[in-house]
Amino acid sequence: MSKKVIFLDRDGVINKEVGYLHKIEDFEFIGGVFDACLYFQSIGYQIIIVTNQSGIERGYYSENDFHTVNNWMLEQFKDRGVDILDVFFCPHGPESNCDCRKPKPGMFNQANDKHDINMKNSWMIGDKEADIQAANAAGIENTVLVKSGHVINEKNSKAKFILNSIEQAKEVITN
Ligand SMILES: [Zn+2]
Repeated sequence: MSKKVIFLDRDGVINKEVGYLHKIEDFEFIGGVFDACLYFQSIGYQIIIVTNQSGIERGYYSENDFHTVNNWMLEQFKDRGVDILDVFFCPHGPESNCDCRKPKPGMFNQANDKHDINMKNSWMIGDKEADIQAANAAGIENTVLVKSGHVINEKNSKAKFILNSIEQAKEVITN
């Protein structure tokens, strides 16, 4: 049976947005993220992270720096009982015109190819309209825009729900 997945953006959803985060010491989890993920797991969701990391192509940090932070983050989740099924990242800048940088759906399509996902029953939680657009383009209609990261434009958002943070997603994702 195909999986139902909660897709999470990283910066601004899981951790506080600091701009081109690439050091563990700058990584601060947003309140309620572990509880929310434990809850998603308890109702049968897998969790996948999809994150734009253009700082790599821009030369602000290396792909190795990304993996160091990523591995540390995954350990923090694991220590609290949260299994992250996979992490997809786009290292490209806007000029590359790649297929993976959100708002393009490439990372979602990669995830679907690899993990056989039921996109109709899956969700995307992001802090930018590009997250919502990418999810919609990949066939995910259930979307949440959170205010815990970038400043958002509520009026022009296509998101199904606009919430303060991932913690509140427990109230709208109920099955
Ligand atoms: Zn890319």
